Amino acid sequence: MLTVTAVSASATAASGARQGPGGADCAPGSTARQVRFAGDTPAADPFFVAESVAALDRRVPSRAPAAFTVPVAFHVLTDASGKGHPGMNRIRRQIDTLNDAYGGRRGGADTGVRFRLLSVDTLANDTWFAKPHQHERDYKILLRKGGAETLNLYSGAVGTEVLGHSTFPEARRNEPLLDGVIIDHRSLPGGPFPHFSLGYTAVHEVGHWLGLFHTFENGCSAPGDGVDDTPAEATPTEGCPKGKDTCRATGLDPVHNFMNYSWDDCMSEFTPGQASRIQRSWEAYRRTPTAAEAAGLGPDAPAVRATPAVTGA
Ligand SMILES: [Zn+2]
Repeated sequence: MLTVTAVSASATAASGARQGPGGADCAPGSTARQVRFAGDTPAADPFFVAESVAALDRRVPSRAPAAFTVPVAFHVLTDASGKGHPGMNRIRRQIDTLNDAYGGRRGGADTGVRFRLLSVDTLANDTWFAKPHQHERDYKILLRKGGAETLNLYSGAVGTEVLGHSTFPEARRNEPLLDGVIIDHRSLPGGPFPHFSLGYTAVHEVGHWLGLFHTFENGCSAPGDGVDDTPAEATPTEGCPKGKDTCRATGLDPVHNFMNYSWDDCMSEFTPGQASRIQRSWEAYRRTPTAAEAAGLGPDAPAVRATPAVTGA
């Protein structure tokens, strides 16, 4: 049995991971060989979630829903022979899948987020391709593009147990180089994994990049995932169970939510509460300031300011 790897709070807080089809064992208490999470615990500790929620409440208490487009710099890692390239067709389908999922076209809320493919580049390196999470600094320093608003999306052989990793928006301030998402090249639409071939690994990981936690974060305890309309859930969902209800709080477990661990063919939705958190996180951590804001005038500054009295040389 694999046990949950001990990681520091800061490391945990800075990444989320999605589990895939090849896992051995297992979360504590589970004995079956099934889809679950194995080595890399994604659970952020409750203090981090509470801090994150409070910080966002202070910075952006509310925000009217707005449409915005995320430029995507897609970076393909392959082995030395070029193996592992998903091909342009599947990359385009991945962008389409992101737009469908975040636009509410698979069900659930329209988050207002849209994605536009900015660029695709390829880098061949056996070691980086085989262990992209362990070597992320080595290739990210070469490949990453843009600022906080640009999604740097990397593909490589992440694994069959864990299919992806992401950083949280708060982490960018201290680690701008690492900001981004890594997904397994087989997780793009049309991949070989049964139940994980619709491209929802990227949808899930990009949810973390946009500020969302897992629906099962903190189990049945407050603050949960920091979102009001995702019912609390004691455990990650495996497969696509009917009627799963693990907490006393109102509502069945959100097994169809993109921020769960369910199969791709079970997932279909974000909630309005998640859309709101995405919008506020974008405002707080990723939106490019306007020229006026950059000049220190603030978003509510009048177009023309009164000239201050000259008080000195
Ligand atoms: Zn995750």
